[in-house]
Amino acid sequence: MEDSKKTLNFIEEIIEEDIRNGKHGGRVHTRFPPEPNGYLHIGHAKSICLNFGLAVKYKGKANLRFDDTNPVTEDTEYVEAIKTDIRWLGFDWDDREYFASDYFERLFQFALQLIDSGKAYVDDSSSEDIASLKKGPTESGIESPYRNRPPEENRQLFLRMRAGEFPEGSRVLRAKIDMTSPNMHLRDPVLYRILYKEHHRTGNKWCIYPMYDFAHGQCDSIEGITHSICTLEFENHKPLYNWFIRELGIFPSQQYEFARLNLSYTVMSKRKLLKIVNEGLVEGWDDPRMPTIAAFRRKGYTPASIRNFASLVGVAKRDNVIDLSLLEHSVREDLNKIALRKMVVKDPLRLTLTDYNQEGEQVEIENNPEDESSGSRSVNFSRNLYIEREDFMENAPSNFFRLKPGGMVRLKGAYIIICNKVVKDTQGHIVELQCSHIPESRSGSDHSGIKVKSTIHWVEASTSVDVELRLYDRLFSVEDPNSKDDFMQFINPDSLKIEKYAKAEASLMQPEPDQHYQFVRLGYFKSDPDSKSGVPVFNRTVTLKDGWAKSKQKTD
Ligand code: ATP
Ligand code: MG
Repeated sequence: MEDSKKTLNFIEEIIEEDIRNGKHGGRVHTRFPPEPNGYLHIGHAKSICLNFGLAVKYKGKANLRFDDTNPVTEDTEYVEAIKTDIRWLGFDWDDREYFASDYFERLFQFALQLIDSGKAYVDDSSSEDIASLKKGPTESGIESPYRNRPPEENRQLFLRMRAGEFPEGSRVLRAKIDMTSPNMHLRDPVLYRILYKEHHRTGNKWCIYPMYDFAHGQCDSIEGITHSICTLEFENHKPLYNWFIRELGIFPSQQYEFARLNLSYTVMSKRKLLKIVNEGLVEGWDDPRMPTIAAFRRKGYTPASIRNFASLVGVAKRDNVIDLSLLEHSVREDLNKIALRKMVVKDPLRLTLTDYNQEGEQVEIENNPEDESSGSRSVNFSRNLYIEREDFMENAPSNFFRLKPGGMVRLKGAYIIICNKVVKDTQGHIVELQCSHIPESRSGSDHSGIKVKSTIHWVEASTSVDVELRLYDRLFSVEDPNSKDDFMQFINPDSLKIEKYAKAEASLMQPEPDQHYQFVRLGYFKSDPDSKSGVPVFNRTVTLKDGWAKSKQKTD
């Protein structure tokens, strides 16, 4: 018990304190409140793991609530994508799927309540005047000339706003708080605006829409959310949310803020991601270069690796940027256990065993050295093979231990071979290696007594399958594109490399869509939905080199 206490994050500490004090009868109820204006990214995944994770840990509940107060940017496509992503991550909201738009009528009633108690007024000023009268944080704001309208007049005007009697932008409803407050959010914030826009759920029923700040906290109260967890930028909105709770006498949800997750070499705002999608710099929201959950899924990340990453990152109180290599490390850790090993050659070079005259044979190769239960498979072997072009060097330095003229290597799971002849075309380009093999050196029954320094992978030529490999690199070429206004300038032009002529062992002819593979030396891969066209297409999930573990070793 003592031990597990030490590892509590600050929100868990608050919750355990609340449970001890019997606050809300010891009830824990959180929510994840996405705005359906884009696909979820890895930052949202952090928030999902936190909110749903707390509910699981404290036997409470977590709601899914779509914060759909802005009809201009929201869409049902995003609602469906968000649900798919949360389920894929392994979380469930049972029947507690809510929409802020379901509460429009109640929010409207809350607004009337404020009007009737003299705490809200209709302002006819232009949005420019409203902004300029607010002034800056170092000086007091100036009250609007409409601020002291009597409640009855405000009520009539607000009802007429709802009835569609006024043009868009001509009036707003504002809270009457304090134009001199050092907190700008308390300087009579706008609560409702007129907007003749169709909403993805309520259609044309409404022509006034609540502002996010008026909707968000009240939705929490309506749902009886005990711990309303959000990111730091809402810290100074909290006094406003608490003002609403007091003035309306509604359930006192309490807000707690934690630091946004930022990841190096990518941007994490839906607005920015939408721009990248709309300008065609990637294929779509699920392009494997994107930091979205849909993209990670397509690329081959597993839900477990993302959940594990979220827990490694922890819950911070200060903004920071997490190294992308930590996420990749977490992905490798999981895939190492579950990925089936296969041999694929990305840039094939023909290799002929001139002294190997058999019809061919089968060699046994293990499916996953990390998991004995995965067994082994038979792989075709013959005199006609492909090896990786970079595994041969004609004028090799002495520290090059792979294949060179006169040199020896082991072919994985098969024989030791010697390179006897390099065949070139008329342009001097190497087209084939002619080698011989040592029959006594067969893997599993090697009695050749020969030691070689290197083992290389290969593919049998006549049974090989043509496959396409998509190799991804960072989306941005700078570590913190978020900090740059012109972030689009820093998109990495080499974020995708396609190997169209790769050769794979026969078993990859029909890859399992949900199977994760490790292609020996090349990395972890997963088949892409584009495969349907005939040639199997594989996305590289992540390379094998663990930059994070390496940098850890250095500092340890
Ligand atoms: P974005 O700017 O990316 O659109 P957002 O905060 O506007 O982010 P919402 O859909 O409003 O996106 O967010 C839903 C929930 O996810 C909120 O509670 C928000 O605080 C949380 N969230 C969003 N981005 C991150 C992040 N980078 N790290 C942690 N939580 C996040
Ligand atoms: Mg938002």
